[in-house]
Amino acid sequence: MSLREIITAQIAAQGPMRLDDYISMCLLHPEHGYYTTRTPFGTQGDFITAPEISQMFGELIGLSLAQAWLDQGAPAPFTLAELGPGRGTLMADALRAASRVAGFVDAAEITLLEASPALRQTQAETLHSCTPTWIDSIEDLPTQSTYLIANEFFDALPIRQFVRDGIRWRERQIGFQDGILTFGLGPAQPQPALTHRLDDTKDGDLIEDCAAAAPILSTVSSRIATHGGAALIFDYGDWRSVGDTLQAVQAHAPADPLTSPGQADLTAHVDFEALLNATAACSPSRVTPQGIFLERLGITQRATALAKTLSGPALESHIAAHRRLTHPQEMGNLFKTFGIVPKGAAMLPGLET
Ligand code: SAH
Repeated sequence: MSLREIITAQIAAQGPMRLDDYISMCLLHPEHGYYTTRTPFGTQGDFITAPEISQMFGELIGLSLAQAWLDQGAPAPFTLAELGPGRGTLMADALRAASRVAGFVDAAEITLLEASPALRQTQAETLHSCTPTWIDSIEDLPTQSTYLIANEFFDALPIRQFVRDGIRWRERQIGFQDGILTFGLGPAQPQPALTHRLDDTKDGDLIEDCAAAAPILSTVSSRIATHGGAALIFDYGDWRSVGDTLQAVQAHAPADPLTSPGQADLTAHVDFEALLNATAACSPSRVTPQGIFLERLGITQRATALAKTLSGPALESHIAAHRRLTHPQEMGNLFKTFGIVPKGAAMLPGLET
């Protein structure tokens, strides 16, 4: 049975499907899920992420975390964690750069939260020299000082969408009609969790809610508040959004999210307001454009140094990668970052104000 058949059978038996359930099945179905069955990143895959564009991204993140570790007294051992590590490229680049900081790599216990068995396998190959541990749930993070990275993790968490109807909300659901999966709207219902969105929306506006995001970040925050550490979160999105941001990408091109379940990557803009609200146990930085963060950490100097060893097409692609990561019209502005540290601790380099 294909994933499409599984989904249509479920709709036939139980009625229209919630969008978060549809996204979960598409991305993480044990047999047919998008992440479960493939390694989708890179020029050969469906999309490319910052660490796959250039080694500079992971290197600068590694150095920022290592400085935060020094600032907090170089605790040993400590957990170096990543949420949704993809191919493991970011972690490998971060560790290589941070190996210049005496004691950091030796004290680091690498812990990865990854739902996809196929990607766990790829991560094991990339990171074989540092013997990572995988966890299934954020609650399983070891209870010790924790330095954590998440790049394009929160945008992959399932969302629900609601259309405002007076002071109530109609949920966008997936049905099956004339042989195709289609969007429809459920009945108008009160949604107490969305009361704050009555302030910035009007009748007919569509908003999105990612219920899974806040509990994950609040667990990370309380771990860091209690045991020390820092977290650096990167994603695309903005401060609260109105409108449909669900996006399907297949072979580097936009696709319809309902046409080929399990074959396309599905993401949605991250609501940075909701994420920051979950960090109350710690001190968060400002939400900062990725380009500005990388420039503050010296990406241009690093790019110039690397360029000296390159020529021809390799040099051209290196220059293009620097531009892609930092330029406001590429990833520099759409992608944002913020950091969290325990209250009273020094903010991560690149995010001090
Ligand atoms: N950080 C990587 C990959 C981003 S794609 C990079 O920048 O290249 C999203 C990653 O999160 C993938 O590794 C995916 O398998 C993982 N993922 C998605 N949903 C998840 C979930 N609910 N729990 C754990 N991992 C998840």
